[in-house]
Amino acid sequence: MSELAYPYEAPASQALFDRAAAVTPGGVNSPVRAFRAVGGIPRFMVSGTGPYLTDADGREYVDLVCSWGPMILGHSHPEVIAAVQDAVSRGTSFGTPGEGEVALAEEMTARVAPLEQVRLVSSGTEATMSAIRLARGFTQRTKVVKFAGCYHGHVDSLLAAAGSGVATFALPDTPGVTGAQAGDTIVLPYNDLDAVREAFRAHPGEIACVITEASPGNMGVVPPAEGFNQGLKDICSENGALYVSDEVMTGFRTSRAGWFGVDGVVPDLMTFGKVMGGGFPAAAFGGRADVMAHLAPAGPVYQAGTLSGNPVATAAGLAQLRLLDDAAYAKVDAVSKEIQGLVTGALTKEGVAHRLQTASNMFSVFFTDRPVRNYEDAKTQESFRFTAFFHSLLADGVYLPPSSFESWFVSTAHDERAVQRIADALPAAARAAAEATA
Ligand code: PLP
Repeated sequence: MSELAYPYEAPASQALFDRAAAVTPGGVNSPVRAFRAVGGIPRFMVSGTGPYLTDADGREYVDLVCSWGPMILGHSHPEVIAAVQDAVSRGTSFGTPGEGEVALAEEMTARVAPLEQVRLVSSGTEATMSAIRLARGFTQRTKVVKFAGCYHGHVDSLLAAAGSGVATFALPDTPGVTGAQAGDTIVLPYNDLDAVREAFRAHPGEIACVITEASPGNMGVVPPAEGFNQGLKDICSENGALYVSDEVMTGFRTSRAGWFGVDGVVPDLMTFGKVMGGGFPAAAFGGRADVMAHLAPAGPVYQAGTLSGNPVATAAGLAQLRLLDDAAYAKVDAVSKEIQGLVTGALTKEGVAHRLQTASNMFSVFFTDRPVRNYEDAKTQESFRFTAFFHSLLADGVYLPPSSFESWFVSTAHDERAVQRIADALPAAARAAAEATA
């Protein structure tokens, strides 16, 4: 048995983690799942219904992770499950075009005006990797600008100063990324337009694109300052570079048209994942038709995938998107606000310095008393308070992301009972945060 940093009863999860560690590096298939930032062992989940997850030991949690964003209708939504069952009954993969992928692309382009054409892929990483390749192919330039603390998946050239797991583990660089790959990436501080102007001055005619999270959620929630995204777009346009908005996290979550629906800034290319897959591996990139025309087989930039546009994944994504009407977003926004109020109320009552930051219904808590505008700010938070807060909530049946550098997510299924359970668990968690020491 591995040593328990936090002595709670989770024998079935412990046994599964021990088995997993024997056959999988670190016992997980994606690093942040391992609980290393907060200590203890990860909970192995066996089922999800509405706002709840149940672990291998039979304990139920109110889920504030929602599979890191996709489950905006909650778990096992009957209409999504029915669409999946219907698709599965007709076969699971054909390796040919099918109507489901056309319908999903039509739904996406109808919702997001700048999305004139889309190409479906299977993960957000593939989407950003392909968008970068297309931007380079289209502009015939090599360099890419990204922002510290933004995470765009584990694309070699985009892992520099990335958020999410890279931030959680404070990895400066990743072995395996070559100097050439990293050398074409220019990493700048987030929310700093002067730094972007300076980069374009220093590299005239070399920058293919600027990629940014539409509203970052991978260093915790750090929304763009007023005018930042429009400024990026303008600088790109003035310099013949493409503005790539990564909406893998915000897409179809922060509004029916994602973050574009919030700030209206028109990107040249966009990337999507999470919500559009309904809990299945479906993702996409798209944007200006004249740029997308450079993609194979229409154009010379190669990109492909055996399971791209998979019929089961597209059926799940389409069913989920069709259920996401204005009323659904109003519900997610309202329950998010309610939980935000409870969290900040409990922490304030215990005198815990914190900043609760939001991007529509996405939110996270930084244990600091200063505003967080970029990754440097985010790193000054007192993460040890988050650890205590996290474990107290976990023990009381509330499941938060196991890192202070991640967004929290809610769903239409978070009803009064679920919110009450969070409210009941918060006072003890706030006390634990107040009493925590570094
Ligand atoms: N881009 C953003 C903004 C993300 O948040 C993520 C994942 O969290 C990705 C890209 C990568 O997506 P995936 O994990 O599906 O590869």
